[in-house]
Amino acid sequence: MNPWKLKYDKFDPEKENLREALCTLGNGYLGTRGASPENMATRVHYPGTYIAGVYNALTTEIAGRDIVNEDFVNCPNWTMLNYRIEDGSWFNRLKVKILSWKVELNMQKGMLSRRLRWQDKEGRITLVENHSIVSMADPHLCALRCVITPENYSGIVTVRSGIDGLILNAGVERYKQLNNKHLEPRSHGAFGKDGIFLQMRTNQSRIEISEAQRTLVYRGEQRISPSMRALLYGRERIIQEFSVDVKKGQRLAIEKIVGIYTSRDHGVADNRTLAQEKVNSVEDFDHIHKAHQARWKALWKRFDIDFKGDPFIQQALRLHTFHLLQSASTYNEDIDAGLPARGLHGEAYRGHIFWDEMYSYPFYTMRAPEITRALLMYRYRRLGAAKDLARQHGYRGAMFPWQSASTGEETTQIIHLNPMSGTWGPDYSSLQRHVSISIAYNVWTYFYMSGDKDFLDRYGTEMILEIAHFWSSIAEYNSKLKRYEIKGVMGPDEFHEKYPGAKTGGVNNNAYTNVMSVWVIERALSLIDHMNDEDRNALTLKTGIDEKEIDRWRDICKRMYVPVDKNGIIHQFDGYMDLKELDWEEYRTKYENIHRIDRILKSEGLSPDSYKVAKQADVLMLFYILNQKELKDLFQKLGYKFTKGMIKKNYDYYSRRTSHGSTLSRVVHAYIADCLGDEKPALQFYEEAMESDIFDIQGGTTQEGIHVGVMAGTIDLLIKAFAGVSVSEDHIRIHPRLPRGWIGVTFQVRYKNVWFHIRLTPDEIKVLSQPIRSMSLQAPQETPIEINGKSMCLKPGKWHAVSLSKK
Ligand code: BGC
Repeated sequence: MNPWKLKYDKFDPEKENLREALCTLGNGYLGTRGASPENMATRVHYPGTYIAGVYNALTTEIAGRDIVNEDFVNCPNWTMLNYRIEDGSWFNRLKVKILSWKVELNMQKGMLSRRLRWQDKEGRITLVENHSIVSMADPHLCALRCVITPENYSGIVTVRSGIDGLILNAGVERYKQLNNKHLEPRSHGAFGKDGIFLQMRTNQSRIEISEAQRTLVYRGEQRISPSMRALLYGRERIIQEFSVDVKKGQRLAIEKIVGIYTSRDHGVADNRTLAQEKVNSVEDFDHIHKAHQARWKALWKRFDIDFKGDPFIQQALRLHTFHLLQSASTYNEDIDAGLPARGLHGEAYRGHIFWDEMYSYPFYTMRAPEITRALLMYRYRRLGAAKDLARQHGYRGAMFPWQSASTGEETTQIIHLNPMSGTWGPDYSSLQRHVSISIAYNVWTYFYMSGDKDFLDRYGTEMILEIAHFWSSIAEYNSKLKRYEIKGVMGPDEFHEKYPGAKTGGVNNNAYTNVMSVWVIERALSLIDHMNDEDRNALTLKTGIDEKEIDRWRDICKRMYVPVDKNGIIHQFDGYMDLKELDWEEYRTKYENIHRIDRILKSEGLSPDSYKVAKQADVLMLFYILNQKELKDLFQKLGYKFTKGMIKKNYDYYSRRTSHGSTLSRVVHAYIADCLGDEKPALQFYEEAMESDIFDIQGGTTQEGIHVGVMAGTIDLLIKAFAGVSVSEDHIRIHPRLPRGWIGVTFQVRYKNVWFHIRLTPDEIKVLSQPIRSMSLQAPQETPIEINGKSMCLKPGKWHAVSLSKK
């Protein structure tokens, strides 16, 4: 197994869609699935290109209701390329004999290659070698090199190289009943000797997308200029066609150089001209390739984790890092786009942005905080929309939508399809108000990990205050209980949408939501308390938060209700304990896969609302994001007891009742099992999380897009749990617990303004600190750190070793 490469040695129509998602190339600005260039969308293949932030909303009538779906637009397919020999038919894998077919994703170089040998009915054997890149050095450039070699014949090869806008959003079976034609033609044409362009526009959001290409041709080593015919199919597909006489064994190389701009790009008046100028500025494929590789090299230097032990873990770590860097990059600073839960890799969840950011941000923040800052700005720009949403629901402050796309309005569907039963049912998931908790949490953790006080002052504080205001307004005082309650919400466990038989959605006092809303309000109070009078006055006037409101916050922090019983079990929500137990064994025997036990129960006419079944960690999220001390303090202030033993009790209770229907769940369970010193389950959950996309363990979800949260979660978990690197407001600590069989881990993390290079083996911890040089500040003489419980100061630039061998 090559840890830098993902290789496929044979064509497998059943797995092609998964491979296309895993071989997606991207640069944060756009992502292109790794489909073969000869193919249009079929049941087996699905070419797709998605540009961060390009959404379009359409309305469809379903079950008598108007359903609006704001989709992540499948943009024109720039990879399109096909060929034929003499007057044979265009290459179609079903009509020829495939002699060999190999695909290789080189993650180190950011290049996707395919080597195909085929034979036609006349016995002619042709070798076709492709290399594609989506430039990491220039977000608007992509390139494809295709080399055709006639192995046992000479003849005329005709090539078609084009841009296809005659496409739909059809990548997800469940959404097929929804209207899915998002593009309409604007303009097209040829330019220069070898260029064509296609400009399309989304039909509701009115975003123009221009793609321009030049096709360069080489016979042997020599560049040639065959005459090119521009062919049009309607006004939505444009193709360059040309023929070349090639001798046996001679290489015919075609290079497609593609430039992509949209009307959303900053400083762009004419996206079409820019796309043309971009491709005109490039010499050839190698030109793009060199800069692209240099950029990847620099990224790997910062992000790579060198792992010694199970080679699969090493490969999966690289695959996850690779896709995370393609899903959001430093280009996001210029884009105004969030981080879609399924990357730029497919159409699942319509490219929407969820709370998953909470799992993903540490990956970026600990190495390239500028990426997190850019993603947080996507949220800040939608603070106004979140305030509107709160008001529409009768609340104050800012309530962010469960699913966010272009405007920051709520884009969660109101009905959804159960693929097992084929029926549409109500969708209450927008009641997951806890998404606003994760945004406040992300602002705060970004701030203390990066030390970016500027962000906090300009944007972050306002976000936290507005979110705290929302939590205070949704909390109701119950005079009987003498406590505050939060009613009618859904927790992270999406199986519990409402009380059994209820006509309205939501449950009362979801423990995770109640506890974390107090955490948010406490953060807001501490920010207010640390502000100077002028700033405090300016901000409280801007947000409309007065002294009376602040007094209420202080009261909520003492009197929020948390459903916890005398045995220390935190109830997922009020009434959870009255629900029925599921016979897990019975269902495991009856169905091969019970991850989505909700769909199974519904298809049997039952409801998950009635059972103690969880899709994913809910109560347990508390132990994932807050440490024991934070929880203890918080519970104490609320007048509840919190003991260390409660972590194990609650873990034992809930892990037995969780189906892990979301891949995020395993990350949380692995972390808690590790904290409890339970190495075996920790490792098992970890390995399953590592396998979730590469082997598509949920059976068919990865082909619709990778799971960004779990990919980032596995990297964070390695660093936080097994390598034991934890950071807090004022501290970085290393306390590794490498599992048996792990021989060594080397990586680097950035905490505030210092890089820490860390090398771990079972016997030794080695750390080198490297403060980031700034023009104005003197580098510190010493960097404080805690290693294995001992506080020490490191001399920058010098390796410091701590032995772990037991004497
Ligand atoms: C999970 C959510 C998650 C969403 C997007 C769902 O299956 O239950 O927690 O936010 O997927 O990844």
